[in-house]
Formats: sequence, structure tokens, C-alpha cells
Amino acid sequence: SKKWKVNPAEIKLRDGDILSQNHFNIMAGPCSIENEDQVDAVIAHLVENNVKIMRGGVYKPRSSPYSFRGLGMEGLKMWHDKAKAAGIKIITEVMQVSQVEEMYDFIDIYQVGARNTQNFNLLDELGKVDKPVMIKRGVSGTIEELLYSAEYVFSGGNEDLILCERGIRTFENMTRNTLDINAIPVLKDRTHLPVVVDPSHGIGIRKHVEPVALAGIMAGADGVIYELHPDPEKAMSDGQQSLYFAESTAMVNKMRKAYELR
Ligand code: PEP
Ligand code: MN
Repeated sequence: SKKWKVNPAEIKLRDGDILSQNHFNIMAGPCSIENEDQVDAVIAHLVENNVKIMRGGVYKPRSSPYSFRGLGMEGLKMWHDKAKAAGIKIITEVMQVSQVEEMYDFIDIYQVGARNTQNFNLLDELGKVDKPVMIKRGVSGTIEELLYSAEYVFSGGNEDLILCERGIRTFENMTRNTLDINAIPVLKDRTHLPVVVDPSHGIGIRKHVEPVALAGIMAGADGVIYELHPDPEKAMSDGQQSLYFAESTAMVNKMRKAYELR
């Protein structure tokens, strides 16, 4: 990690919103973008709670090829039109090199998923764009490997980076992943970049998402990304870890209080 700048990075979104260390941001939305009604409902919920960044996948890295794999560009365009009208920013996962350009006009932040953290050609391509990139820690990736992945993008010329701890695979199988809370203070110490925690994939169990999110904030997270759904039981992916709107509202309020206390 030789190339990091000393001063905290300030990542400016289109409307002047900032992502940085010591500036709290919330990103929330469904695992997958599914249809117009779902997007309308989520946007209304985010606006109500003053959450400005919406997450959602249109290209989904599913373990099984028979699972729902996303609506693709058509879904992204539909989502973009609605989000833009509501003043909501979009973060979505980019899976391959060709999608970097395809998605460019319709997104605010590229998400590199845990399965693509070491897709070095993708990282090279993201080094050439002038939009922020959030890199998730690899499923079995070390903190150092995450830092090197960030350096791929950084050394390519794109310094607008966000790091995300989303849990790693361990011997523990009562939870989906093991959220490595240690990574948060370590990443903040080792870089000037905003660090976001993903409690949804970190634990994978709806009722435990909130305490893990709060722990992440107390450990120093500059942002939280989490999954919600208007009807989690019917979600096409990750319903078991997606919050109901009422739970989401309660968690947002607690997260903001926790950040104030930190
Ligand atoms: C997601 O954000 O829905 C996702 C697939 O996350 P990860 O890459 O961390 O598994
Ligand atoms: Mn998911």
C-alpha cells in the first residue's frame, strides 16, 4: 500500500453529496431489482427515511445458474429513470469489463462484488472511469488482498474508491459469512478511503442485521449498505436477510444515533 494519499479521500457524487471517512452514508435496497412496483416501493421508503443511495443488482452472481440472475440493462434503465426523478443515487454490481461502459450513464457508484474482487481485468477497466467504485472484500480474501484490489483501480487512475467489509467464509456455518469487524478499524488506519460495512451479507439472517450494523458503525464504518424488500418472503434473492420496511426505518434511526455517539 505505497500509493495511498495521506489526506482522506472525498468522493463527490453528481449532486455534490460526499462519501468520505468521517461522513456517514447509508445505502439500502433490494438484493435484486425485480420489477417496477418493487422499485417504486423501495424509492418511496428511501425518500421517507432520507436515504440517498439505493443499492440493487441487475447482474447477479448466483451460486446456482438456475437462480434468478437479474434484469440486466433493461432493468437498470427502468430503475435509473425512477431513481433520478426521486433524487436517489444508484450503486449496482458490475460483473464484467463490457458492462463498465454499458452501465456508465445509468449509475452513480460501481460495485465490485465479493466474487469479483480479484477480477483484475475488471479492476483495470474501472481504473479508467471517472465514477466511484466500491470494492467488496473477497469471499475468502484477506484484508491485504482487498487493499491490492483497490490499488489496481487506484493505480489505473481512478482514486474514487470505497472499501466494503461484507464477511468472509470461515469454519462457522450458523451464519452465512463471518463479518470481520477487525477489518474496519484496520482498513481505516491503512487507507484514506471510506469504509462501508454490509451486515446483510455479513450475517445473512434478517433479525440479526441491525446489531451487526450498529457494531460496524461503532467499529468505525463510514457507511452501511444493507438489503431490504417490500415483501422479503417473496424476494427473488436474499429474502432471508432482507429487512421489512418497518425494520429498515427503525434501523436507520438507530444507525444515525449510533454514528452521533461514536
Ligand atoms: C450483493 O450485494 O447482493 C452481493 C452479491 O454481495 P457480495 O458480492 O458481497 O456477495
Ligand atoms: Mn444479496
